[in-house]
Amino acid sequence: MRGFFRNVPVRLWHSYHWQVQNRIRTKEELERYIKLTKEEKEGIEKTAGLYPMAITPYYLSLINPEDPQDPIRLQAVPRALEVDEKTQAHGEPDPFREEGAIPGLTHRYPDRALFTLTTFCAVYCRHCMRKRIFKEGERARTKEEIDLFVEYLKTHEEIREVLLSGGEPLSLSNEKLHYVLSRIRDVPHVEIIRIGTRLPVLAPQRFYDDELLDILEKHAPIWINTHFNHPREITEESATAVEKLLRRGMPVNNQTVLLKGINDDPDVMLRLMRELLRIKVRPVYLFHCDPVKGAIHFRTSVEKGLEIMEYLRGKVSGMGIPTYAVDLPGGKGKVPLSPSYVLDKEGDTYVFRSPFGGLVEYAIPHA
Ligand SMILES: *Cc1c(COP(=O)(O)O)cnc(C)c1O
Repeated sequence: MRGFFRNVPVRLWHSYHWQVQNRIRTKEELERYIKLTKEEKEGIEKTAGLYPMAITPYYLSLINPEDPQDPIRLQAVPRALEVDEKTQAHGEPDPFREEGAIPGLTHRYPDRALFTLTTFCAVYCRHCMRKRIFKEGERARTKEEIDLFVEYLKTHEEIREVLLSGGEPLSLSNEKLHYVLSRIRDVPHVEIIRIGTRLPVLAPQRFYDDELLDILEKHAPIWINTHFNHPREITEESATAVEKLLRRGMPVNNQTVLLKGINDDPDVMLRLMRELLRIKVRPVYLFHCDPVKGAIHFRTSVEKGLEIMEYLRGKVSGMGIPTYAVDLPGGKGKVPLSPSYVLDKEGDTYVFRSPFGGLVEYAIPHA
């Protein structure tokens, strides 16, 4: 699968640092590998400084260079669409009002506190819900900012879970990660730590580092939430990364975003869910695409999402059926959406639609 990078020695290819240092960041570099469309050339130029580009060699190697509509390419290569008037007229930079009192903290659900550790990412996903932070450059939180967050945790005993997000939280050095995790573990009422990372998809080589795995294991219980959007993102390397996390006691869950032209297709989504189960990743959420400024062109209809959910039911194990959800604007929370299977009800008797077709009348009296 190495494609363009067949000549890179395995030792380097398997190095996360090599992957990051050799990210493709300019039009000229990218043109060495892919014949860019006019829309993409303009996109890279016009988004510079606002929504910059970065693509790891690994993620780039998954792209089929012959296909301008390749689902990996659409997630990674800027298009002029992102900054045209029509796209920019819709959505908000921060539809969920994440920016709170302490830098990086969003405390929306009483029991869960979200903290963004850095603005750095291995790849700048074009559909990112936090596109607004790209222009801030690549900066990790300082020790002082981390300490401020930990002080907040200490004074809020209702917080049982800390969600570390970004940017890419696992892009921090092992030393700094150790610092963050051990400080959080000093807070007795925090039971679990969840890390939202897309590195299993974008640079799975990060997890070939035993020192990182030691640090994560030491601060258990840690749950990993990752972000596979397309079955083609499931490779030998990403499966290896997941396996390493699982062997160190970390469950790996997935959040997919429903993206127009990328995975808004029942068969693609079915393949994705099956492949995730095969590598032992539990699909937890399918999110409707958020109204984020500069990413609105990835939005499809709620009906499409429901159609996909209906299609999945019965074709894949129940473990492989995510919750389809929309995040309400203004930080009002996530709401699950589901096709309705109850068509009618009279007294204790319901009329259900069977996932295999046809109607079933079923009386369910209760004690
Ligand atoms: C999504 C989100 C969470 C986590 O919600 P889950 O349903 O537990 O995944 C927590 N805090 C904020 C601010 C969120 O946006």
